[in-house]
Amino acid sequence: MKKLISSLLAAAVALSTTVCATSAVAGAAESADGAKFAMSVSFDKDTLVPGDEVLASLTLDKNPGIIGLRINVGYDDSVLSIANRDGIANAELLEGFVTPPPGQLANPFSLVWSDPLAEVNNESVGTVAEITFKVKDDAKLGDVKDALTLSFVDIAYISDPATLKVEKYSPDEAYADTSKAAAKIECKTHEFGEWDTVKSADCENAGTQKRTCKNCGAEETQEIKALGHDWGEWETVKEADCVTAGSQKRTCKRCDAEETQEIKALGHDYGEWETVKEADCVTAGSQKRICKRCDAEDTQEIAALGHDWGVWTVIKEATESEEGTEQRVCARCNETETKTIPVLTPDDNNSDNSNTSGTGNVSDPTSKPSNTDKPTDTDKTNPETGSAPAVGAAVLMFGAVGAMAISAVIRKRK
Ligand SMILES: [Zn+2]
Ligand SMILES: [Zn+2]
Ligand SMILES: [Zn+2]
Ligand SMILES: [Zn+2]
Repeated sequence: MKKLISSLLAAAVALSTTVCATSAVAGAAESADGAKFAMSVSFDKDTLVPGDEVLASLTLDKNPGIIGLRINVGYDDSVLSIANRDGIANAELLEGFVTPPPGQLANPFSLVWSDPLAEVNNESVGTVAEITFKVKDDAKLGDVKDALTLSFVDIAYISDPATLKVEKYSPDEAYADTSKAAAKIECKTHEFGEWDTVKSADCENAGTQKRTCKNCGAEETQEIKALGHDWGEWETVKEADCVTAGSQKRTCKRCDAEETQEIKALGHDYGEWETVKEADCVTAGSQKRICKRCDAEDTQEIAALGHDWGVWTVIKEATESEEGTEQRVCARCNETETKTIPVLTPDDNNSDNSNTSGTGNVSDPTSKPSNTDKPTDTDKTNPETGSAPAVGAAVLMFGAVGAMAISAVIRKRK
């Protein structure tokens, strides 16, 4: 039985060396759906330029199981050329690929796959060969249909695995799809006409325009940018006031689109500050101002002025046995402040004791106490609070008075 297969396929191979166009099978299946066996051819690009190379793929789309296949591949030689069999590569999907002999390829040329030793059918699908064509330099420009043709000569299969009986599918049971071997041949450098508007642009939407090559019919499409709105002037819809925002709108002259915008609140337009209540030495006052537009009132505190103290005046001189007293008076409200002058020490008589009024230089850096000094009765340095009703102000002044008193103590330690 094997011998039978071998001889059958050997005959097929022998046939392939002399391709005969008339051996192509006529009356194939009308679609892949209605066929038991289907193949297709396709190009790797849609647009071809003279001088370019283009790769055609032969694909098994539907394969119920075969042991041998012989097809004829034809090409439109006004468009394509193939130099020799080196341009044909076997994808090794099927065993025993046979290309035509060296030299100029016939058109159509035969491709044969056969494996004399096969004992089972090959059910592979996919690319079985790739053929590199050149687009002729003088190829006619424009659309090319059926640049490649494909026809079946033999499709052999083992019909009985037990006996290895070989039969062939009827041509009616096979389908060759060449629809994808269509291409457009375009010139290397186009010669375009004017742009034609395909779709006009409007305010918000881009349009399109195209132009066509006078030589090859290639089309180029381009966007026409959206025009953008053609706004009129802003119109006030609602006036803004001091505290509330208003709104305005404008309308496109072309498409009536509207745009609305906020008008910011104006903020108050205040007049001058007017005193409502004067401030005095110890009590804050207040002032107000009024918006010229909406009569809104704004009130603010006037800070207390603080006392306007005169100089300290000694009321009673200190002696070595008794404290003295000094006093100052506010020029504005006559508030008085009193403090004691510490008891004099013998040293005070010998050195600088002239400045006992407490207005001396508090920050004198030479006035530091010596290490040998004993602590003194600093409780006597506390100021006496004044007898006036403004006790609060006196307390406020405590810090300043205390500092002066400490200055006096430091001087005493010298
Ligand atoms: Zn062109
Ligand atoms: Zn508009
Ligand atoms: Zn206002
Ligand atoms: Zn005062």
